Amino acid sequence: MMNRLLLVTWASLFTLATTVALADDAPRASLPTVAVITTGGTIAEKTDPKTGGAVPAVSGKDLVAAVPGLEKVAKVVVVAYSDIDSSHMTPELWAGLSQRVDKVLSNPKIVGAVVTHGTDTMAAGSFFLDATLKTNKPVVFTGAMNDASSANPDGPGNILNAVIQATSKNAQNWGVTVTLNRYINSASEVRKTHTTNPQTFESGEKGYLGYVFGDHVVRINERVGRIRIPLPKKLPKKLPKVPLIAAYAGADGSLVRAAVDGGAEGLVVEGVGAGNVNAEINEAIHYALAKKIPVVITTRVYNGAVEPVYGDQGGGRDLVKEGAMLGGALISPKARLLLIIALLKHGNDQKAIKRVFSQVRGASR
Ligand code: ASP
Repeated sequence: MMNRLLLVTWASLFTLATTVALADDAPRASLPTVAVITTGGTIAEKTDPKTGGAVPAVSGKDLVAAVPGLEKVAKVVVVAYSDIDSSHMTPELWAGLSQRVDKVLSNPKIVGAVVTHGTDTMAAGSFFLDATLKTNKPVVFTGAMNDASSANPDGPGNILNAVIQATSKNAQNWGVTVTLNRYINSASEVRKTHTTNPQTFESGEKGYLGYVFGDHVVRINERVGRIRIPLPKKLPKKLPKVPLIAAYAGADGSLVRAAVDGGAEGLVVEGVGAGNVNAEINEAIHYALAKKIPVVITTRVYNGAVEPVYGDQGGGRDLVKEGAMLGGALISPKARLLLIIALLKHGNDQKAIKRVFSQVRGASR
């Protein structure tokens, strides 16, 4: 099923046409070129009438061909990377995607990239690229909540808006964004907030970076808190093993110990509130720290950051004293990816890893 290094297809979208939005009857001789890099997801799926389930069904070329008016905005180069539901994405696949995007954007003729991706893990995947890409060109993740065979597919409009953003002078220096349903979110803030509604991606208290309206981008916010750790040229087959474990009422810490005994190279523990865990998990975290395994604490809470407030056993302040790190305002899957990237770069150098986490938005100093 995994269809990784697929061919690069030049979609010849040179139709010269009148554009109402630009009020310009003359053919546009020099449209910018944008790469649309496809990875799969609902945007490239159709409902199988026999089973009633959505399955991968649309090639990258067909995806782009279904976007009305795209030929008036940009020339498009389609790069097929994979064709998978994003629940099957892995850090290794995102690392390969990051390298592929950098390679595509090293072409001086290409002004930016749109990455089509499943929405389920888009917040995490976009963050991985945001942290690891070398390019400064705009990279816009988009997808769809309704599949291509639905009565109101949102994929074509989302691709159009993403391409408009990628070519817009008003949308530079935002790093990687997630742009759906017109709204532009920074990769570090974005999270999926609804299981089925097309208005699912939000940026919480930080707010949207902007939105796309008609043929232009309205800028609302500047980007903050971007961490950049470019990938090494040669990637290992397997990236560092970092399980993510949730704390909950009555948890006995056995999952944390099992992760350590199972060869974890780092751990993310999603605490409650401002980043607190119970005494049993706290003891299991001790077990990990004693074996020199870096532990990052995050929270299940939607807004705010993890803070070293409480000093009783397993409180955030106590955890930091014991050597755990705090994940700031990053949601747990992103903190996990950042720990993987930091371990890849710095090995088990805990001081260097702490420096990385001291840069995330909301990090306590
Ligand atoms: N199942 C889809 C995915 O690949 C959901 C979506 O794309 O909206 O994440």
